[in-house]
Amino acid sequence: EHLANQIAAGEVVERPASVVKELVENSLDAGADRIAIEVEQGGGKLIRVRDNGQGMDPEEAPRALAPHATSKLRDVADLSRIATLGFRGEALPSIASVSRLTLTTREAGGEEGVKVAPGADGLEVVPSAHPPGTTVEVRDLFHNTPARRKFLRTEKTELSHVVEAVRRAALGTMDTAFILSHNGRSHFQLPAVETWEDAERRVGRLLGDQFAENAVHLVQDSGDGLRLSGWVILPTAARGQRDQQYFFVNRRPVRDRLLGHAVAEAYRDVLYQDRHPAYALFLEVDPAEVDVNVHPTKHEVRFSDGRRIHAFIRHAVEEALGAVRP
Ligand code: ADP
Ligand code: MG
Repeated sequence: EHLANQIAAGEVVERPASVVKELVENSLDAGADRIAIEVEQGGGKLIRVRDNGQGMDPEEAPRALAPHATSKLRDVADLSRIATLGFRGEALPSIASVSRLTLTTREAGGEEGVKVAPGADGLEVVPSAHPPGTTVEVRDLFHNTPARRKFLRTEKTELSHVVEAVRRAALGTMDTAFILSHNGRSHFQLPAVETWEDAERRVGRLLGDQFAENAVHLVQDSGDGLRLSGWVILPTAARGQRDQQYFFVNRRPVRDRLLGHAVAEAYRDVLYQDRHPAYALFLEVDPAEVDVNVHPTKHEVRFSDGRRIHAFIRHAVEEALGAVRP
């Protein structure tokens, strides 16, 4: 079982940033509106994610570390209408199999918290003081898989991947406050967004002033279940920002050919040039129309009607760019 978890970990846990991504997604699924992430030595030594979400009761907490113990799917039909970020129930056991993991949690309204940690004879569960919410601490990632540990890059590189993972989460979930610190020093503190100005401030903080200053805001509703919002930036201003392509489907960060292609086509149609688009775009679509269970990292999606989605995005981005064409 331990070995099976380590194999699963190979798919889900590539580096500290993958741990951060999974833990932050769990916090978001738990309804947290404040998530604090602390990392040490690029995350290789310590990753601690603390949230104020719904927490777990003392019986539920140890189950979170059991394989395939997701609380988010009740039956197979649920798979076709996934609204949470997690659902496979393999992140925590996978991470625990390649690190020293402890989970401390208290249910909102619960009497006391518990701390769960793998011990010599299975899981140890002890009472522990904790405010409502959950803290997961991951120490010494890959300590027992030296081959994998060797693939960790420098502290600086690993930190930059961690920052990117938090950036994606913080762009996708504006109404949650995010705090990131590295080696005890604050990296960013993002208060929860309430207004469009707040949102633009967060985008500027995460993607840079140049992006924020040149961003064209768009909101388009198809009238039949599709909504696209966010920012596109004119390619003249986008020089040197070719990596700034962020797409979210129902708040989930995705890297998807179809979506990227639709935006690129819009740029070409309106601006007659093939420069690299830069954007942060948010698509809302009925969960029944998207399959997110394509790959364990859940970065890829499949739509039941890809052509309709492609046409809608292309049109919406064309309108936004057309309105400001230089
Ligand atoms: P998944 O997210 O796919 O369900 P995980 O292994 O990531 O699987 O988590 C297992 C279960 O542990 C979740 O379904 C959830 O019930 C519980 N859990 C994990 N993290 C948290 C958290 N931060 N707050 C509340 N519950 C959590
Ligand atoms: Mg999860």
